[in-house]
Amino acid sequence: MPNSVLIINCGSSSIKFALLLKDQNFRIHGLAENLGTPEARIKGVTLGNEPVDIKIPNADHKEALEVGLSRLANHKPDAIGHRIVHGGTLTQAELITDDIIDKIRQATPLAPLHNPAHLVGIEATKRLFPDLPQVAVFDTAFHQTMPAHAYRYAVPKFLYTEHNVRRYGFHGTSHAYVSDRGSELAGSFKQGGWLTAHLGNGSSTCAIWNGQSVDTSMGLTPLEGLVMGTRSGDVDPSLHRFLEANLGWDIYKIDKMLNSQSGLLGLSNLSNDMRTLIEASEQGNEDATLAIEVFCYRLAKSLASLSCGLPRVDGLFFTGGIGENSAYIREKTLGYLPHFGFNLSVEANNNLKRGTEGRIDAGTGPQIWVVPTDEEGRIAKETEHVVAELTTTKKTEQDAVVA
Ligand code: AMP
Repeated sequence: MPNSVLIINCGSSSIKFALLLKDQNFRIHGLAENLGTPEARIKGVTLGNEPVDIKIPNADHKEALEVGLSRLANHKPDAIGHRIVHGGTLTQAELITDDIIDKIRQATPLAPLHNPAHLVGIEATKRLFPDLPQVAVFDTAFHQTMPAHAYRYAVPKFLYTEHNVRRYGFHGTSHAYVSDRGSELAGSFKQGGWLTAHLGNGSSTCAIWNGQSVDTSMGLTPLEGLVMGTRSGDVDPSLHRFLEANLGWDIYKIDKMLNSQSGLLGLSNLSNDMRTLIEASEQGNEDATLAIEVFCYRLAKSLASLSCGLPRVDGLFFTGGIGENSAYIREKTLGYLPHFGFNLSVEANNNLKRGTEGRIDAGTGPQIWVVPTDEEGRIAKETEHVVAELTTTKKTEQDAVVA
C-alpha cells in the first residue's frame, strides 16, 4: 500500500496538485496556473505552512510539476492519482496503461477541454516518475450504475449505439464520497435512498440507492441540469435554433454563451459568485435576488425529480462551496420542498460552522446533513485500492511461478 499519494488535477493551462500522506491528516497543496504563458506561476504550496508564489515564465506542465514537487522536500509520492473528467463507460478507477490512455483519448469528443489536458498531465508525470504506479480516477465512473431509463436520451437510437450519445454524469468522486460519508454518519453506511446536492461553481445533484448512483442531473456534458456559476443548466434545445434564426449566432457562440456567460452570472449580470450575489441581494439588487431564487427553485425541482429514482428518500446531503457554507441557500431550497416532509432546524442550519459536517433537520421527516466533500481524499483512496490490487496480483503471479 502506498504511504503517500500525489493527486493531479490537470487543466489546459493549470495544474492543481496535492500530496496526501498515508494517515491523510497531512496534505500539501499547490496550484500552477497560466502555463505556457509569460505569467506562469506556482502558488500556495505550503510546506510548514509557508505561502509560496514562484514565477515560472513560459513553463509547460512538466516543468511546473518539477518545480512544484521540488518543494515537497522529503515527501516523495509512492503512487499518483489523476482526476479524469470523462472516462466514457469505464466503471471504476484504473491503473494507467496504454489501453487506458487510449480510452481517455477516445472520450475526448465528450470532454474536449478536459481530457486532452489530463493526457498532458499523465505524460508529464510518467516522464517525471517512470517507476511509480499511476491511476486514473474518473468523474463519470460512479454514475455508470445508472439504469438505461435514466441515462438514455429520447433521440434516435443510432446516436447512442454508434456515437455514445447518452447521459454520463459528473462530480462522481464528490457524490460517492459524500453519500458514503453521509450515510455512515446517519448510521446506515451505503444503505437506503439519499439525494446529494454538490453546489459549487459547477453544481449537480445525484440520487443514490444502497451506495450506487441511480440518476444525476448532469448529462452528456457538465452543462445539463442545475443553474451554475456561469453555466445555464437545462434550456429548451430549440433555443439554439431561435438564436441562429433571430440573432445569426453560430453554434460555437451559443455554446460559449451557455457555458461561460449564463447561470448566476447571466441572470444577475453581476457575478458568478454566490457570496457576491447574496451581499448584492441584501443591498437591494433585484437581479441578484432573482438569480438566487432561480438557483434554489431549479435545485429543488432537480431534487424532486431525481427522487423518482429512489424507492424511498432517507435524506439529503449538501456539499460544495455553496452547499457547505450557505445556510441561506439551504433554507431557501428546502422551502420549495415542503411536500417531501423535510423539516429543517433553522437553528442547527444557521449554527453549522464552515467546513464542518453536521445534521440540520429537526428530527422528523427525511434527514438533512451538511457533508464537506473530499474529492482528493476519495481519489487517494481509490488510487491506493488499485495499487493494492496490483500488488496482490503480482504476488499471486510470483507465488504461482515459485509453486
Ligand atoms: P466551489 O466551486 O465548491 O469552490 O464553490 C464556489 C462557490 O461557493 C462560489 O459561488 C462561492 O461564492 C460559494 N461560497 C463559498 N462560501 C460561501 C458562503 N459563505 N455563502 C455563500 N456562498 C459561498
